[in-house]
Amino acid sequence: MKNESCIFCRIAAGEVPSATLYEDEDFRVILDLNPASKGHALILPKEHYRNLYDLDEDLAAKTMVLAKKMICKMKDVLRCDGYNLVQNNEEVAGQSVFHFHMHMIPRYKDDNVGLGWHMGTLTEEDKKELLDKIE
Ligand code: AMP
Ligand code: ZN
Repeated sequence: MKNESCIFCRIAAGEVPSATLYEDEDFRVILDLNPASKGHALILPKEHYRNLYDLDEDLAAKTMVLAKKMICKMKDVLRCDGYNLVQNNEEVAGQSVFHFHMHMIPRYKDDNVGLGWHMGTLTEEDKKELLDKIE
């Protein structure tokens, strides 16, 4: 279902121009307007889903297959040294456009792309609580 007020719906439908790297019946892959590194691209489903919580399971599977194909091709074109796949869900996790998308971020040696986190330590208390609650 397309949402007229959603910019990614309009881009995916071709109503708003974009730098399109790939398109099929389910997806459009575009270059990010504010790239973290050269070649940063986004996989957009043509149907509107707010994020991964809502995404159709078949499309979720297809998204990963497409990401694999795209980065295998793009790594040779870009001659990058690695790749991050990033997918943000909700504002607190960095989501700013509320139409599901997968970031494909090429990594280059010493590129200073600021992805990462401070590593904590898994406590016995957290481990027990989580293993008990999540089956
Ligand atoms: P997120 O913060 O995970 O929701 O990512 C949204 C991404 O969409 C950001 O990296 C933006 O730079 C990118 N973006 C927003 N609007 C556009 C647009 N019109 N065309 C291409 N990329 C966009
Ligand atoms: Zn949308």
